[in-house]
Formats: sequence, structure tokens, C-alpha cells
Amino acid sequence: MADKRRFRMAPSPTGSIHIGNARTALYNYLLARQSGGTFVLRIEDTARDRSTPEFEQAVLDGLGWLGLKWDEGPDAGGEHGPYRQSERLETHKEWLAKLTAAGHTYRCFCTREELAEERKVAQKAGRAPKYSGKCRNLKAEEVETRLEAGEEAATRFRVMPGQVSFEDMILGRLEEDAGLWGDFIVGRSDGTPVYNFAVVVDDHLMEITDVVRGGDHISNTFKQVVMYEALGLEPPRFGHMPLTLNAKRQKLSKRDGSVAVEGYREQGYLPEAVVNFIALLGWNPGDERELFTMEELIEAFSMERITKSNAVFDFARLDWF
Ligand code: GLU
Repeated sequence: MADKRRFRMAPSPTGSIHIGNARTALYNYLLARQSGGTFVLRIEDTARDRSTPEFEQAVLDGLGWLGLKWDEGPDAGGEHGPYRQSERLETHKEWLAKLTAAGHTYRCFCTREELAEERKVAQKAGRAPKYSGKCRNLKAEEVETRLEAGEEAATRFRVMPGQVSFEDMILGRLEEDAGLWGDFIVGRSDGTPVYNFAVVVDDHLMEITDVVRGGDHISNTFKQVVMYEALGLEPPRFGHMPLTLNAKRQKLSKRDGSVAVEGYREQGYLPEAVVNFIALLGWNPGDERELFTMEELIEAFSMERITKSNAVFDFARLDWF
């Protein structure tokens, strides 16, 4: 691992940045600053149909307005670029080939319809959907012939049964039974790797030492842990934050204008007030203090005091600051 800690924020530019995304960015920024480490911004724009340059600009503007300066990123440059995931496709493909060469994948010819049918049957039977493994043991010659005949085939990761665990910096030891998963797709039939694999490659190559993100990524993390292992790589440390929920206790959505950072800016809130508010959304200093400058936050913030339960976003509170 790199000597200096390297944190990152990896937003998908599929909407304007909301309070929950901003909190992820802020916490990573604070942790990077207080440890004398680096804060990296990587734009995860591989959902080509939903990512737009306008949203990317909105993300950069939103984070910039909050005063979260990244040390490396698409506009800032750095030694670990490119920092837009869409520009890293060839690298992802090379790593997918490594995973395949090490025997951890197989080609799957199951059609969308077949898979949908499998899921329907599982649901009817009250079972969680899980890939049947139909293509797991196809003979190499059959795979060759079918590929040559132009049949489409995704690439699946061959999951080994057993417990997968990691030490979460916020939640402690987390464990899941890989036997529940089924072999998951790492490459689409057009050869492009899926998000969950690209993240492993990018975090590794960008020498990220600490991945701090929302708890909605825990199920991805377990799969990423086994992919690191399969590639013979040391995984970063992981920390999952509680989710931010709206007043109705639903997950925040990029489509909900009332939680967009941009909205607060337009309404005339000061960035310092928004930062202060976000800082206390899922973290407390352990004393009575409620007003912090960025410098004070860098000083006071600690991973140990991030709360473990979900944080309900109470808009009215923002007016306190
Ligand atoms: N691009 C992902 C998202 O916006 C974040 C991935 C990550 O932090 O690993 O949810």
C-alpha cells in the first residue's frame, strides 16, 4: 500500500449531487486532510446512457462550491489518470483478461429471456434469484464453436463457496456467505467490464488505501473483496457509512430536487453552513459543539464517531447554521 493514505470520491454523473453524495465527499476530504493524505476525484461515467457532461460539470461545481478541493481528478490531473472511468476501458479489459487467464471466469451464453425466466421461477418458489450455473462447465470446444458462430456471451466470475469477510472501519467485521450469490457477471457480451469490476481495477491502479462510501455498497464490497483476492491484489480498507434518508425515511435520490446541493446554493445558503450541516449528518464530535469551520472539522473529525445507524435528513435543521 502507498505510504500516504489515499481517499477517493467516485461519483456517477447521472444527476446533480445530493446531500448524501456531498457527505461522502466531505468525509473523505476531511480524512484525507487530517491524515496528510490525498483526496482523489474519479468520475464514474460508464453508464453511457445516463451520464452526461452537464451532470459531470454539476458534480464538479457542487463539490467545488462546498470547498472540497481534490488533489487529483479529471480537471486537476495527477499521476494516476485518466480520472474518468470511460477513458479507462482498455485498462479494464486488460484486467478482465488477467482474471480470465487466472481461471476465475467463464463465458455464459444464457439469453436475457432465459435469465428472466430463471428469476421468475425462483421468485414463485420464494427463493432469492441466483444464477443456476448452467454455463459453468461447458467444454472449451463448445464455447469456441459457439463464439465463432457469433453467439453472444457474457463473462461470469466463478464464485467459490464459503464465507467472505472484511474488517469495516466503521461497522466492524462484516461477513457474507458467497454460496448465496451465484456466479456474477463481470464482463458484458460486448466485452466491456461491469462497474463492480472496473472499481476494483481503478481503486487498485489509483493506489487507493481507504474506500469510504455509503452502506448501500456493502453487497458490492463483498464481491470486490473476492475479485481482489482472485487477482492476487491487496484490497484497500473499507468503511461504510450509514445512509442518509429523507424525512419520509427513504433513501435520497438524485431526482429529488429538495436534497440537491445546487438547490441550497440557489436558495442563498452559504457553503460553510451546508458543510457544517452535512458534517453532523452521521457524525458527532462527542461534545456539545455544533458550529465548525472546515479547519475545525479537519481537526475534530474521526471515523470512530461516525454513527452506525442511518441518518434522517431534517431539512429544518439546516436553518440552524
Ligand atoms: N459510482 C458509485 C456511486 O456513485 C460509487 C462507487 C464507489 O464509491 O465505490 O454510487
